[in-house]
Amino acid sequence: MADVIQSDVIARNVRTVLDNIRRAAQRVSRQPETIRLLAATKSVSADRILEAIQAGVRILGENRLQEALPKIDAVGPREGLSWHFIGRLQRRKVKAVVGLFGLIHSVDSLELAAEIDRRAGEAGLRQAVLLEVNIGGEASKTGFTPAGVADALAVIDRMPNLGVKGLMAIPPPTAEAEGARPYFRRLRELARSLASPTLHRVRLEELSMGMSQDYEIAVEEGATLVRVGSAIFGARDD
Ligand SMILES: *Cc1c(COP(=O)(O)O)cnc(C)c1O
Repeated sequence: MADVIQSDVIARNVRTVLDNIRRAAQRVSRQPETIRLLAATKSVSADRILEAIQAGVRILGENRLQEALPKIDAVGPREGLSWHFIGRLQRRKVKAVVGLFGLIHSVDSLELAAEIDRRAGEAGLRQAVLLEVNIGGEASKTGFTPAGVADALAVIDRMPNLGVKGLMAIPPPTAEAEGARPYFRRLRELARSLASPTLHRVRLEELSMGMSQDYEIAVEEGATLVRVGSAIFGARDD
C-alpha cells in the first residue's frame, strides 16, 4: 500500500514539474518541446526510477558510476530512454562511463576531456559532452572559468571523438530562486559569445541549468536541459 501511495506521488510530481516547465517556457515565448527534463536519481532506488519512467521521464541523471551501474541494469534498455552522467567524473572511471551515458554534463578540465576523447576513440564511438562552467567563480567548485572556456573549446574542437553539445553550470547557492537568474543569464550569454565559425565540431546548443529550486527560472533564461531531483523524488538525506 505504501508503494502505491509513493508511486502516485512521483507521478504527480513529474506532471507538476513538466507543467511548470511548459508554463515557464510560455512566459518567455519559448517552445516547451525545446526543454528536456532530466530526473536526477542519486540515492533513488530503481523501483522509484521506474515510477518516474512510467510517468513520462525519459532522461535519468546519475552522479556516481558505482551507484548508477546496478540501476541501469535493473531498469534495462528502453525505447527513448537515456542516462546522463552529471557528477564529478574521475579520470579512472572514464573508460566505464564512455558509451554507457548518452551525455556527460560534467567535463570540468582539459585533462578529463582528453581522457574521454581517448577512451571514446578506443571504443570506436563519439561521446557527447557538456563543458561545466564555474559560473559563480566559487573556490569550492571545479569547472572552466567563464574567461577560460573559449581557449578550452579551441583545444577540444580538435578532439575527434568528443562532441561538445553545450554548457552546464550549477550557480552558487542562494536563499531565493531568483538569486540564480543572473548566473543562468550569464551562462546563456557566454554560450552565445562562443558561437564561432572557427569551431568545427562544437555546437553549443544545450544549456544544462536549473535544479528543483530554480528550474523555472532557468527555463526563462534559456535552459534546454533542467536537472530535477528532489522536486520529483522528495527530499534526500544529503
Ligand atoms: C542532485 C543534483 C541535481 C538535482 O538536485 P535537486 O535540488 O534535488 O533538484 C542536479 N544536478 C546535479 C549535478 C546534482 O548533483
